[in-house]
Amino acid sequence: MQTDIRYTVIVPMFNEQEVIAETYARLKQVMDTLGEPYELLFVDDGSRDRTASIVKEISRNDPCVRMLGFARNFGHQVAITAGMDYAEGDAVVIIDADLQDPPGVIVQMIDKWKQGYDVVYGKRLKREGETWFKKTSAHMFYRMLKSMTSVDIPVDAGDFRLIDRKVCDVMKSLTERNRYVRGLVSWTGFRQTFVEYTREERWAGDTKYPLRKMLRFAVDAIASFSYKPLKLAAYLGFVLSLLSFVYILVIVYQRLFTDTTITGWSSIVAINLFFNGIVLIILGIIGEYIGRIYDESKGRPLYIIWDKTGYGEESADNAG
Ligand code: UDP
Ligand code: MG
Repeated sequence: MQTDIRYTVIVPMFNEQEVIAETYARLKQVMDTLGEPYELLFVDDGSRDRTASIVKEISRNDPCVRMLGFARNFGHQVAITAGMDYAEGDAVVIIDADLQDPPGVIVQMIDKWKQGYDVVYGKRLKREGETWFKKTSAHMFYRMLKSMTSVDIPVDAGDFRLIDRKVCDVMKSLTERNRYVRGLVSWTGFRQTFVEYTREERWAGDTKYPLRKMLRFAVDAIASFSYKPLKLAAYLGFVLSLLSFVYILVIVYQRLFTDTTITGWSSIVAINLFFNGIVLIILGIIGEYIGRIYDESKGRPLYIIWDKTGYGEESADNAG
């Protein structure tokens, strides 16, 4: 309907009832200062609390607000992807729902976009109010990923970013399942720049990324952008064979030319356990990649939307 939308702001949310009204108010305040038509596209990633009903209530009084409701929790990266699929703006901004990414930075991103950049990502100078573990693991993760891939994925940058319409269109054409969105954006190769910001403390509520999801996320990122873990088997195999060969020479020498009794049990058990461990780890790594191939081959849709709000016909189809 409204095809003249200039900006889309995508907000993925999962159980964010404590902050979402505040997030809406702050985003609206910032976007209104720009004086151009925009949409706030909230993507509800299967929240089990009142998040969706709060946003629906807001949308009743504000035609800029739209919401896509997932049938279940499909994950943060998938929620962003759905947002991109439905975004109508010439420039598309992705921002977390918890106000860790300050909405005011969007104005600076739009400035850069107007200078001709196609991707403007937010670079985290400082992170406030996050645990030591989160900061250290994130720091290490970004650097490890960088060393493993040839795609220029910026370090210390999250999904808080602006992308141009043409980047969004390319993203829509990428159908892969286990998505690491910020990596894919870099992969497209469009002209990118950054604005620096301080990542604030979460405004309310708790993190929706428990350790389990963080690990999944890291493995997805690495498996999508690097084959290096697969090569580990070859490297390790080479080194260990070499060491084993030296050890064999030592044993043979001892047996033939000395009187030392060669004791067996402990060394055999130790070697066995060690090598079995390594083999299982390598199998696990291969399994990660095979699982991904399997996911791709099933060709299931990436997400299921059961509720669309703010697209004109809402009063009819989302009575629940
Ligand atoms: N999120 C989501 N689906 C999930 C987990 C998180 O849509 O399964 C959203 C969440 O609502 C927030 C953003 O992703 O808007 C980032 O999550 P969070 O702030 O909890 O992560 P953290 O900042 O602690 O890494
Ligand atoms: Mg957060």
